[in-house]
Amino acid sequence: MNSKTYPIICTRGVIVFPGQEIVIDVGRENSIRAIDNAQGNYNGRICMFSQKNSDVENPGIDDVHEVGTLCWIRHARRFDRFVRVKFQGIERVRLESLEEGTLSEICEVEMLPSQKQDETEETVLIRMVRQAFEGMRAGEKFMSKELLLDLSKGITPDFLTDKAVQSFPLSNERKQKYLETQGINERLMMLLEDIEQEKRLSEVEKTVNETVKFRIDQNQKDFYLREKIAAMQEQLSDGQGVAHEGDQIRKRLEENPYPQNIKEKVLEELARYETLPPASGETGTIKTYIDLLMNLPWWQTTEDNEDLDKVRDILEEDHYGLEKVKERILEYLAVKQNTNSLKAPIICLAGPPGVGKTSLAKSIARALGRHFVKMSLGGVRDEAEIRGHRRTYIGALPGRVIQSMKKAQVINPVFLIDEIDKMASDYKGDPSSAMLEVLDPEQNSVFSDHYVEEPYDLSKVLFVATANYLENIPPALKDRLEIIEISSYTDVEKIQIAKSHLIPKQLKENGLTEDQFVLDDDMILYLIRYYTREAGVRQLERTIASLARKSVLAILRKEMDKVVITKELVHKWLGNEKVDYGKKETEDQVGTVTGLAYTSFGGDILQIEANKFAGKGNLILTGQLGDVMKESASIALDYIRSNANRYGILDSAFGKVDIHLHVPEGAVPKDGPSAGVTMTTALTSLMTGIPVKSNLAMTGEVTLRGKVLPIGGLKEKSLAAYRSGITNILIPKGNEKDLDDIPQEVRDAVTFIPVSNADEVLANALTKPLKPLTAEEIAADQEGEKPKKKTARTRRTKTKTDDEPSVPVLNANTHTGTKSVPAGDAQ
Ligand code: ADP
Repeated sequence: MNSKTYPIICTRGVIVFPGQEIVIDVGRENSIRAIDNAQGNYNGRICMFSQKNSDVENPGIDDVHEVGTLCWIRHARRFDRFVRVKFQGIERVRLESLEEGTLSEICEVEMLPSQKQDETEETVLIRMVRQAFEGMRAGEKFMSKELLLDLSKGITPDFLTDKAVQSFPLSNERKQKYLETQGINERLMMLLEDIEQEKRLSEVEKTVNETVKFRIDQNQKDFYLREKIAAMQEQLSDGQGVAHEGDQIRKRLEENPYPQNIKEKVLEELARYETLPPASGETGTIKTYIDLLMNLPWWQTTEDNEDLDKVRDILEEDHYGLEKVKERILEYLAVKQNTNSLKAPIICLAGPPGVGKTSLAKSIARALGRHFVKMSLGGVRDEAEIRGHRRTYIGALPGRVIQSMKKAQVINPVFLIDEIDKMASDYKGDPSSAMLEVLDPEQNSVFSDHYVEEPYDLSKVLFVATANYLENIPPALKDRLEIIEISSYTDVEKIQIAKSHLIPKQLKENGLTEDQFVLDDDMILYLIRYYTREAGVRQLERTIASLARKSVLAILRKEMDKVVITKELVHKWLGNEKVDYGKKETEDQVGTVTGLAYTSFGGDILQIEANKFAGKGNLILTGQLGDVMKESASIALDYIRSNANRYGILDSAFGKVDIHLHVPEGAVPKDGPSAGVTMTTALTSLMTGIPVKSNLAMTGEVTLRGKVLPIGGLKEKSLAAYRSGITNILIPKGNEKDLDDIPQEVRDAVTFIPVSNADEVLANALTKPLKPLTAEEIAADQEGEKPKKKTARTRRTKTKTDDEPSVPVLNANTHTGTKSVPAGDAQ
């Protein structure tokens, strides 16, 4: 027997194979002693056996495997409670017996060298092992590059198996089995088996892994897929939507007589629209553009009612009076019909607010059977509002003309251009030039809107413009217009309009019968005079509407069966009188004169006041006067100064006073030359102290030499005077011809006095004739002496007028006067 004794060390499952190294921390008393013993007495040799059951603390011979390994302690390092030992396996050994020793247990072992077996088999086995290794993928547990390298170097199969088993993750039992197997071929077989086994395991593991991974991924993947499907569906449905929309548009293009250029444009845009992703910001703008082109009228028309009698009937039906206006409209339409062209100028209805300009235009549309659209130009100062913005701008829109045409739905509507005089121009361009293109029959068949890009034909449109104040219409535009003036209504006309139109309209709107709401002529006049002061009838219409509504309420509340409007009721429902009708100056006053103005609201009366006080000849103007009116004031003053002596005023008087001229009634825009006579009268009255007749109004421009020039708007002015209960009006002689236009009703009530120069004005306006100064008085004034007669004359004036003491000022003045000595224009 080849038996030897060595110290013995038992391990808990650790096996070391011959030729292999392993590091173990040895902690058990016995084991440490055995290590010491081996190192001390056995040249570092020790036998290592693994326990069958690692729980046993002090194993006996039966508790350890029979086969172990003779090892060489390469290295041992002591730590506090254990020794770290590096063992190297030398030989397989079988445990024979256990001896009791002094330091540690000593065992007797039999050497178990590896046994060589059939060589061919061995060669085949080795080759198979090599192949098996090579078939393994990197990362697999049995894969060891080192082993493959060893194999190629021609490692012994003995060593190969031991090395492989030492490093492979095999169970302790299996490792023990290797240890116990001496036959090399057997061990190679075992290795092959294990490798195969491991391969299968690793396959399974891989699939399991993949399955697990797949399952984990599945949720994410599902989510991802679902998202993708949704996106695809979206694309799909959107695409279908776009395609569907596109088809519809194409069909509409084919079926309808759109102009060729529009068809092409739409198709071009459509192609772009369809290729863009739906989420692209551009699709919206393209779609809006396509929609506009598709929905603008390009060929749709209504048929005109050619029966002019019927047109007349409708115009009559809708509006009271306005005979001349209706006649002009009929003429205009007749010419159009006759020439079958709309190249005639465009009608412009001009007049104060509320006189029925808009409703006349609507009426024209109704009479002709045309659609009606309205575009207001009030406050438009940007050309783009008329012509649109280019599509490259964000939020670009077509201009108002095109928008209105879209609303009209036909190419031949009646198109009302409201307030053409209220257009302004500024740095953003001149809208009036764009309007010119709209209104010019030569150009408007190819009207260009920046947004639409394609020319648009406006030549079939019947344009009607309105304006309040002709002066404000840009001259180039005015040239294209056929102005039809509609003037203010007289009280009688207003009563008629109320009876024939406004009241029936309100009855209908409020569901009242004629019996339930009684408003007689006197009451209408009362409303006109004390609750409205206007050129038109808009306020009157509102007032009647308000009364009608209150009547409905009263009837429904059973407070009354029917409502007969009385003054008391009006007071109760509408409050106190809102306008002082006829409460003009009843006393003849010095320095206060009633002028007449023509504004965009129609005519109006204008009180001019003058006053003076000690000063240095300054003229103070207040009341927010325009430049023209300021000029009128200085012309008036200079005229009076140059004629002072003729009018009984001392030259020196002007240098010692400051004159204040004020034009109250803030709301009325105050400019224009027609206040010249009024100012001259006010100043003369002030300087002479002679009062002006009350119940007198005047209008007219005065030149520096005292000529009275004609003015405009006489009709409106006289209507305003009449509205205010004034019975005498001084008018320029040059305006006499206009008296024909003035309604009879006004002519009956008002006396018109034509005047041609300032002398006539003053002669008619002042309560007393002017008395020229005597040569003596003039000489005295020039010498700075106190004229003898002066006191008496002035005192007389003073007592008569109760005016402020102008005399003391004049008398105190011994100076020759102001710098600008009057030229003395003796007339
Ligand atoms: P404008 O456009 O001149 O400012 P509108 O056309 O708005 O005035 O007229 C205001 C109201 O007065 C409308 O209800 C209109 O029908 C009515 N109206 C004006 N003039 C007449 C008239 N001559 N006959 C009947 N109704 C009138």
